[in-house]
Amino acid sequence: MKTRIEKMGINGEGIAYDRKSVLFIEDALPGEMVEYQVISDSKAYKKAKCLKVYERSKDRKEPECPYYKRCGGCQIMHMNYSAQLDYKRDMVVEALNKYALIDESVVEDTLSNENVFGYRNSLKLPFMNHHGKLTTGLYEKDSNHIMNIDKCLIHDKGLERVRKNIVNVLNKYGYAVYDYKNKKGIRSLFIRVIDNHYQACIVTGEDVLDSKCLDDLERIEGLESIYQSIHTTKSHEFFGKQMIHLRGKKSIGFTFNGLRINLSIRAFFQLNTRQSSRLYELVKKEVKDNQNVIFEAYSGIGIMSLMMKDKAKKIIGVESIADAVNNARKIAKDNGIDNVSFVCDDAPLSFTRYAKKEHIDTLIVDPPRTGLSDDMLEAIIRSRVDNMIYVSCNPSTLAKNLMVLKKYYNVLKVKPVDMFSNCASVESITVLKRKQVSR
Ligand code: SAH
Repeated sequence: MKTRIEKMGINGEGIAYDRKSVLFIEDALPGEMVEYQVISDSKAYKKAKCLKVYERSKDRKEPECPYYKRCGGCQIMHMNYSAQLDYKRDMVVEALNKYALIDESVVEDTLSNENVFGYRNSLKLPFMNHHGKLTTGLYEKDSNHIMNIDKCLIHDKGLERVRKNIVNVLNKYGYAVYDYKNKKGIRSLFIRVIDNHYQACIVTGEDVLDSKCLDDLERIEGLESIYQSIHTTKSHEFFGKQMIHLRGKKSIGFTFNGLRINLSIRAFFQLNTRQSSRLYELVKKEVKDNQNVIFEAYSGIGIMSLMMKDKAKKIIGVESIADAVNNARKIAKDNGIDNVSFVCDDAPLSFTRYAKKEHIDTLIVDPPRTGLSDDMLEAIIRSRVDNMIYVSCNPSTLAKNLMVLKKYYNVLKVKPVDMFSNCASVESITVLKRKQVSR
């Protein structure tokens, strides 16, 4: 069947209308006339594959990756880069229009990524058996099936080198893929690189890794810290409960946005080092100098709070994961920063409590994809905080939250940020200012 694509959807698909139902067609671009095949049909919409493009969009390019059509990792590699940037802005504009009735004039151009490939600083991949040998794979689109991938163009090049080296060493010592019955074998691999410092964790069954194998792993260039995690349950958590430090340093150390950071193996760090550095700098630029109190909710390992050290007398970061809070406190201590403190708590509770005690000048929030909860929105409205900066990784929840906040706050600007080129996800920074209420 043939149809013309009207616009793009939030997951990078082309949208067309077939009488009354909506069609989401993979790999199809607005304006294109395509032949499609329906792959799933629900009452509300149909999903389809694009079989042939009759009229090519000027925004179409050949995807650089040979696995692109099968792999679920990237969604918009068939668009040229300037169209990808426009797409990300459009997604923000559309969400603001639809859920917040906010006009597109506040939405700036998307901040482009300096590296459209090789930007991803970490990987978490499952192992599979490939012709009798261990290899890491990637999940196929909409499936539990793992496919063998020789090279991922999104991963940092060095990360790919270390991944291959680790896999080769494990094969040299005859390790096999994890077996759920005897609880032995190699399950998955985590590697992270920041500024040429590599840390890795091999997730296994109850195996004790051979010491000669560990010697070989330790010889891999740049690999400074090696862990093993024993994971024998069916849980979808990536790491098991136990983390065993095998070789090298316990954490990796590097300098980032002026901060000396020691990153522990389990700590979350943004996946695109360079672009997150620029995003944090943009947030910092939006925060006024000489303030009394800045509050950051959902602070992770606290980088944004710590970067604000010269902006206010006091900065408080709140985060619910204890490991992250400990990591944040350690970074503060290592950098001799004593006006930034971290609380391990639920953001709305902690913020409400704090705002009752003291006036907060600026609130920075960087919530998960679900956005701000009703409790948090209510707490913000009651707190009368003057300035707010909202870092979002989901335009829809951002817009729904702004629908509530806009009664009390003016939305000054929204800056989309391309953090993950070739992927459909959209990050953004929104700057809000409390409306002056005449009494
Ligand atoms: N700003 C950080 C982390 C952002 S990710 C950075 O840039 O690295 C969102 C963070 O919110 C996660 O660390 C998550 O653990 C935390 N979080 C989620 N729900 C929370 C809640 N209710 N209260 C406090 N923190 C929460």
